[in-house]
Amino acid sequence: MTRHLLVTNDFPPKVGGIQNYLWELWRRLPPQDVVVHTTPYEGADAFDAAQPFTVTRSREPWLLPGPHLVRRVRRLARSHAVDLVVIDPALPAGLIGPRLDLPYAVIVHGAEVAVPARLPGARRLLRRVLDGAVGVVAAGGYAARECERALGHPLPAFLIPPGVDIDRFKHQTSAERIEARRRLGLQIGAPTVVSVSRLVPRKGMDTLIRSAALLAGVHEDLQVVIAGRGRDRRRLTRLAARVGAPVRLPGRLSDGDLVSLYGCADVFAMLCRTRWRGLEQEGFGIVFLEAAAAGVPQVAGRSGGAHEAVVDGETGVVLDEATPRSAAAAIGALLDDPDRLKEIGDAARRRVEADFSYDVLASQLRGALDAMVKQPPG
Ligand code: GDP
Repeated sequence: MTRHLLVTNDFPPKVGGIQNYLWELWRRLPPQDVVVHTTPYEGADAFDAAQPFTVTRSREPWLLPGPHLVRRVRRLARSHAVDLVVIDPALPAGLIGPRLDLPYAVIVHGAEVAVPARLPGARRLLRRVLDGAVGVVAAGGYAARECERALGHPLPAFLIPPGVDIDRFKHQTSAERIEARRRLGLQIGAPTVVSVSRLVPRKGMDTLIRSAALLAGVHEDLQVVIAGRGRDRRRLTRLAARVGAPVRLPGRLSDGDLVSLYGCADVFAMLCRTRWRGLEQEGFGIVFLEAAAAGVPQVAGRSGGAHEAVVDGETGVVLDEATPRSAAAAIGALLDDPDRLKEIGDAARRRVEADFSYDVLASQLRGALDAMVKQPPG
């Protein structure tokens, strides 16, 4: 495949969404064609030594798009004889692209381009980066649309969404579900709605809590678990008590408990919302894919790329206006129809197996990088 240099601020052993995305994709590419240039991090020496591809690290903690970085990337590209430089993020690091005199591509994730796409000065810079690139890897349609907004015309982007570990998140047998509920302190036979996220306003957990209070009038034994930590936890705990919602917020769960929680849910719900006139949206919502892999139908609020993660009517429900009432109606309808619940859950699992396994996505990435150098789009 195309021998290339990935230049990124975010790579393991640092943890986070972007790091995970890059790692799961790039570790599946032919190692002899991959060189990574990234930033230093504790434990990086041992990590780098264990990789079958070359990793080089800067001395500075952040890759800033100055002449120094341009010179270093040129030198690395020459010494490793690469045909393409792939830069992440598009801003600010991507600003070195037009100065490299080499074919370059950028990776866009969503949030980091949504704000520049709406601010004139930053939009000009983003346009310059995108215009000079031989290709754009977009981690979803939302990121691609935000770039199109900046450019003012369609973008020849290669959509490589984040994937999910389909061996880790799996459908559970009845016995496993019972065991998981017991371990997590949940009632065995009660309808159970689950959510997982950082607790910040965009995730719409207040709407879920209010909808749980409404639903509890019909489903008396309803139990709702909202896992994750964040600055809103105290406010949300108080809200649940005030409106009498059967909701608990256990904070951050261990990786093992997280898998069990998804596995023993009847419905997953995250009623995410768009804030600040579009400046803040849900990038994609990996948690929807995790629930899907566990065979659990999802209810989502329409924001950013959430409707790409959840296919309305097929793998779950996407609410244009996620209010406590509309959410309670959607969740209630699912809980009332066990056959439909199973049908949607199975369809959700089939979809992630076909479209969101990292093996599938890495092979698409490989094709995209090849296409960029052989047939530059535009
Ligand atoms: P983002 O935080 O806005 O990027 O939200 P995403 O939905 O894209 O990703 C959140 C990731 O954090 C998912 O992989 C979640 O499973 C993970 N996560 C959130 N809360 C918890 C938790 O309590 N425990 C564990 N183990 N993982 C969590």
